[in-house]
Amino acid sequence: MTALPLVFDAPRRGMPPRHLADLTREEARTAVAELGHPAFRADQLARHFYRGVTDPAQMTDLPADTRQALTEALLPGLLTVVRHQTADDGRTRKTLWRLHDGALVESVLMRYPGRATVCISSQAGCGMACPFCATGQQGLTRNLSAAEIIGQAVAAAAAMANGELDGGPGRLSNVVFMGMGEPLANYARVRKTLDALLTPAPHGLGLSQRSVTVSTVGLVPAIRRLTEEGRNVTLAVSLHAPDDELRDTLVPINTRWKVGEVIDAADAYARKTGRRYSIEYALIRDVNDQPFRADLLGRLLAGKLAHVNLIPLNPTPGSKWDASPLPAQREFVARLRAAGVATTVRDTRGQDIDGACGQLAAADSVSVPSVALPMPAVEPPVELGAEGDE
Ligand code: SF4
Repeated sequence: MTALPLVFDAPRRGMPPRHLADLTREEARTAVAELGHPAFRADQLARHFYRGVTDPAQMTDLPADTRQALTEALLPGLLTVVRHQTADDGRTRKTLWRLHDGALVESVLMRYPGRATVCISSQAGCGMACPFCATGQQGLTRNLSAAEIIGQAVAAAAAMANGELDGGPGRLSNVVFMGMGEPLANYARVRKTLDALLTPAPHGLGLSQRSVTVSTVGLVPAIRRLTEEGRNVTLAVSLHAPDDELRDTLVPINTRWKVGEVIDAADAYARKTGRRYSIEYALIRDVNDQPFRADLLGRLLAGKLAHVNLIPLNPTPGSKWDASPLPAQREFVARLRAAGVATTVRDTRGQDIDGACGQLAAADSVSVPSVALPMPAVEPPVELGAEGDE
């Protein structure tokens, strides 16, 4: 197993109190026993947590005189809603969360016909410093704990079950790690989160592997580790440029692991899982949208088990970054398809609430400039020219 470089070890300051979701099932049972209760109470607590039940009064299968103590010990409230913002006629909702130490993170829940996807954050801020990304301008505050990451998905599942989005009660079907942060820079906790997302009740949400997407800017050792440890989730690589010269400036970690190394690692992942990976590519006017770069990308990916998601930049007033014009987008798509590369243009849900690609920057933290640009964000891809997928 490849150890991750120390450079990704974010400070532990501010880490939250222990939570049931940070523990394996056996650890949770042991923790409950050490508190003087039968170990099976851990399963009951887990069932409540993953159903989004936080009020001890509703945990009627637990003895009344133990509920408070058990929830205080193992289900501390880690995420406090600062505000919800809705868009897309109530089918998209962005939530700003305050963590126990005051750090702010965001998640976005999006409802589509037949499915609902939540985009979650894995870090407060991000240390990858991509210049076009709002989150990248903040720097890294800290890694989130597994329970803080899982809690965002649990809250989304509960919101769907309770019918809080337009369309009535439904089921959370997809999770994408495309909010704030570089998920693979918080590897151990993201790995634990994957376990929780994929584990059936009572100790998880029971999602399918193919409905969970982990994105990365290309931390090659971590991609290899994910390949070795394999939960067979979908891998999304935020490439944004097909050549090292440009990518060194758009995605600074490229100075460490070059385009070729990143694609090699993604190919190995695809071979191991049999699953197509996606290449996320923010189309930025006159920066990376030239026809020759489409051809370069086409040559890079031709014959590979890869799919390109093009993400037109979400324009922000005052930002020097702008979306590629439609003719440039069409040309880019046509050249990739001519090279035999499956290509779609992504829907930009939630644009009017700064909840689309790269705009998850916890805008309440006033030190953050409102620079908006793509972090690849949200499923599903749509064909160029479509209004959306509905
Ligand atoms: S694009 Fe992703 S990896 Fe880059 S700074 Fe933004 S959140 Fe971090």
